[in-house]
Amino acid sequence: MKRRVFSGSRPTGRLHLGNYLGGVRGYLELQENPDYETIYMVMDLHAITTPYDKENLAKYTKQVVIDYLACGLDPEKSIITVQSLVPEHAYLAHLLSSAVTVARMLHLPTYKEKIKQHPDGATVALLNYPVLMSADILAYKAELVPVGVDQEPHLEVAREIARKMNDKYNLSFPEPKRFATKGEYVPSLTGEGKMSKSVEGSYISLGDSFSDIKTKLAKVPTDLGKGSAVPKEGGVAVLLQLVELFLGKEERFSYEKKYLGEGIRYQELKTRLAEEIYEQIKPIQKRAFELESKKGFVDEVIYDGAKRARKIVSSVLSEVKEKMGLYFKK
Ligand code: ADP
Repeated sequence: MKRRVFSGSRPTGRLHLGNYLGGVRGYLELQENPDYETIYMVMDLHAITTPYDKENLAKYTKQVVIDYLACGLDPEKSIITVQSLVPEHAYLAHLLSSAVTVARMLHLPTYKEKIKQHPDGATVALLNYPVLMSADILAYKAELVPVGVDQEPHLEVAREIARKMNDKYNLSFPEPKRFATKGEYVPSLTGEGKMSKSVEGSYISLGDSFSDIKTKLAKVPTDLGKGSAVPKEGGVAVLLQLVELFLGKEERFSYEKKYLGEGIRYQELKTRLAEEIYEQIKPIQKRAFELESKKGFVDEVIYDGAKRARKIVSSVLSEVKEKMGLYFKK
């Protein structure tokens, strides 16, 4: 049997460069590897764990599927669908929640960060996020999860739950591992923290025009352009990281040398970076535009993906229910 891969992104708007480099690039690499069966979803049940835009949730969900397809995800090779169409995830999350304490969830750094962003949003759904994410992965007995480094604490929870369920109920969940990409951590354009959809001014989206990208990069805070040590944090460090990701390591070294010598001209650097980023996302935008006019096709991908996903998860869920002692007709 092929080893399984599971991952997804929340539909909080169009994908940004962090989602693309940290997530989707990994999805693509594993999709092309014949040793794996790949399952990728848009995680709408996760989107409602923080304040969200009800009017646009379904639209954004479809938009992310379109972005997935435009980036190269292929329904012939991967199961591509929407989380809420596979209700077994939520069912399994409830069963798994019996294997994890409230204290463990309260201490997660991701939970603490989110309630700092949304002080009125300390809901049970938010607290339960890592349990639902564990269910997303374990429902397929997935072994590899292509996600950014920010998701590592959640994967640790998934591994703990897998171990506990295996010990307690004689189950055989594999302990899922993160599949890392070169862009596993894309910093925020503000110079603080990671690029994120929930932080305004922090991201470049896959739908941005050349002039949007230029305007956003123009706002990245910089310094005089030279000094005795290359900055390890703040706006300049962000620019150098983006140079490495989009123009390569050599270019980064050459800018670092300039910083220690004659100085960097940030306007030149930002223009080159904007050109290269746009060059790389332009073909994705073109394909997304074409897919938007093929709406029936996208719905078909989503519904067919849900059917295929439910086939896998219903048998895993039955096994867990039976081993946990729930009523089961023999
Ligand atoms: P966001 O944090 O922007 O709301 P999601 O939580 O939906 O994004 O994450 C979707 C995928 O994108 C996950 O695999 C996550 O690890 C990855 N990701 C999100 N932000 C970044 C980032 N700044 N750098 C690398 N990967 C990221």
